[in-house]
Amino acid sequence: MAKTLVYKFGGASVKDSIAVKNLTEILRNRLRKDMVIVVSAMGKTTNALESILSRKLAKEDFSQNSSTLKAFHLEICEGLFSAGHPIFAQVQNLFLQLENKLELDLSRENYDEFYDSIVGFGELVSSRIVAEYLCSQDLLVVWKDAREVVKTNSDFRFAKIDWEETKKSCSSQWKPLLGNFPILTQGFIGSDPKGKPTTLGREGSDFTAAILATSLGASSVTIWKDVPGVLNADPKIFSDTRKFDELGYREAAEMTYFGASVIHPKTIKPLANVDIPLFVKSFLDPEAPGTKIHGAAIPHEVPTIVLKKEQILVSFKVTDFTFIEELHIHRVYERLQALKLRVNMLQLSAISISIVIDAQLFKLDQLLEKLKSEFEIRYNEGLELLTILHPAQEGISAYLEGYEVLLEQASRNTFQAVRRKI
Ligand code: ASP
Ligand code: MG
Repeated sequence: MAKTLVYKFGGASVKDSIAVKNLTEILRNRLRKDMVIVVSAMGKTTNALESILSRKLAKEDFSQNSSTLKAFHLEICEGLFSAGHPIFAQVQNLFLQLENKLELDLSRENYDEFYDSIVGFGELVSSRIVAEYLCSQDLLVVWKDAREVVKTNSDFRFAKIDWEETKKSCSSQWKPLLGNFPILTQGFIGSDPKGKPTTLGREGSDFTAAILATSLGASSVTIWKDVPGVLNADPKIFSDTRKFDELGYREAAEMTYFGASVIHPKTIKPLANVDIPLFVKSFLDPEAPGTKIHGAAIPHEVPTIVLKKEQILVSFKVTDFTFIEELHIHRVYERLQALKLRVNMLQLSAISISIVIDAQLFKLDQLLEKLKSEFEIRYNEGLELLTILHPAQEGISAYLEGYEVLLEQASRNTFQAVRRKI
């Protein structure tokens, strides 16, 4: 039997009715019975759901936000279906369920769990609409809830995969269908041992594609994007970008580690472990070859630029005329770990530890609160972390012009700077 193919379509590829029609054309000649199609929420729906949650937390009215979101989805349906199609009632019904859930109590204490019960809604409604539309175009797919096979622990918002259980459910519940029907499902969401909804972290749908591919023993994963493939810099920020025809797993993983948003950072490892190739292709130019990420790629030396925004630089200074010792580093890392904060850059001096972390709701306060008795702490928000892999020495300064550099670090293969616009 031919092996399963996994396709993933992100938010931009389903952002309006024209995009959904384009996705349909991509599938027209490519759909096969042993295929899993993973879709994200439409456009910026997940951001919109996050804003609804922040408003609710702040006890502000969010009814306007939820009606705008509903209107957005209904308008997409209007572009795809004729009046009276059952999808309209389905979408109304899903929004009713969302509104009911939003009636429940939310506080800082249950925020993460509440968040996971809400934000996956974008994927659920999107996958319904796309599945209905494909079927209406004679591309038969079976809609499946990813939460029945993607099993996680209960780390809400950043749930960890239970690989064993996920594999088992994939084999028992989805394998028998594949080969007879393609499956259309959602990225980003899973469920914990009690069956509660969880999410895998923002932009996690790529990771879902990798999880399903690994668990189903797929032959490849294709991520359909609005870029021609993996480029050596984000074309939305930098000019003169170059596309890689192929990349090794390690090189690709390194780029995502430093913040390249073309693929979710967790996507590569599970695929690399079992040698499943990952294709990144353009949904605007589906015939073009894109980028192939696989184990046998020839290494390259092309300077690769990655920018991470919304960064915070925190410096912990020892207060008692001593010097930085292992114990100090340990204390800071212990807190970071407890808060599930990853350090994007670290620099030590004789009397201080400087770290760069992503800005995340509440987390900075919690970090400072715990450590303020031991250190003199300073921080700067709203920074950017620039990483250049394989830097060409003469090229670096161009990226720092017009910026104040707060921290800088260079090794033979990597240059990093924390910068702020002057
Ligand atoms: N919809 C989710 C997000 O925007 C997951 C994804 O798109 O990958 O984060
Ligand atoms: Mg997305």
